[in-house]
Amino acid sequence: MTGAITIGTVKAVPGEIARGGIPIIGDMRGRSREIPIIVYNGVKDGPILWLNGATHGDEPEGPFSIFKMLEQIDVKALSGAVVAVPVMNVGAFSAGARGDPLDSFSYDMNRLYPGRPDGYPTERIAHAHWLAMKDNCDLQIAIHSGGEHSYLAHMIFASDNPPSLELAAAMGKGWSLVFRSGTGGGNPSSQMGALGKAGVTVELGGNCRTLTGDFHDIADDLAAGYLNVMRHYRMISGAAQYEGEWRMGYQIPLLAPATGMYVGVADLPFETELEAGTLIGEIYDLYGDVIGEVRAPQNGVVFGMRARPSVIEGHWCCFFGVVEETVSNLIPR
Ligand SMILES: [Zn+2]
Repeated sequence: MTGAITIGTVKAVPGEIARGGIPIIGDMRGRSREIPIIVYNGVKDGPILWLNGATHGDEPEGPFSIFKMLEQIDVKALSGAVVAVPVMNVGAFSAGARGDPLDSFSYDMNRLYPGRPDGYPTERIAHAHWLAMKDNCDLQIAIHSGGEHSYLAHMIFASDNPPSLELAAAMGKGWSLVFRSGTGGGNPSSQMGALGKAGVTVELGGNCRTLTGDFHDIADDLAAGYLNVMRHYRMISGAAQYEGEWRMGYQIPLLAPATGMYVGVADLPFETELEAGTLIGEIYDLYGDVIGEVRAPQNGVVFGMRARPSVIEGHWCCFFGVVEETVSNLIPR
């Protein structure tokens, strides 16, 4: 990357911070709309890092962590560029909902990349974002959380190619759970992976942790990861820190066996290996009797948990991960 960067309505020359947007379909009153973006164009060559937040509108960890990270960046000492997209899905974020309530046919923006120029509303928005990003991006981090229904602990889904696995490892301390996800799937990370570039989806937080200091802690934690990524790729000065080993495997969604009130076990450790059969949560009926149990189906780790107790049989209760291998070679030597 050298020289000026033009993305959407934004043009940033080296050493400049510029704001603007990616134009998308207009609103009912004929006004134009944009996905807001912030571009930090550094003074030296380096990769272009995209930070994509709130494609799910009930996941505010993306925008808050991006804001906290950007305030720590001196564009005059930056190599490469940062393109920050705090809120990809403005309609969904405005509603505080996973998808845009005005679009029932392509509600989940994280399932339909690269979008379609002549598709449903959210497909068109995704397509505009994709076109703006795909040729102007080397490293892509999509930021997610448990949203309004769950809490998710540190966890990364990395596209299954070496650049993406390196990017996952570059998130640094605390991010030892890295699960491979395919390339070419319907989310932006997977599409970046299909181009042979680095694309990861990081998961941390949920609306159960957006009250005062808790929200700051989560956002600071994520921002520290992005800064570590930037140190790793020499976009900013300082030595990156890493986990020594990464636990890789796959997830099994544990679904509610009954309808009622879901209560997780007190002091259940997240991100820690549990034995098969360990009790994770119970479901009460409305008379106070336990009518269902959620247990570890095999040895594995809990990396997320339902945070909205009301539950219907079949609802997601626990994000359970099976670790297939532990590796120490995600960072090229
Ligand atoms: Zn999400």
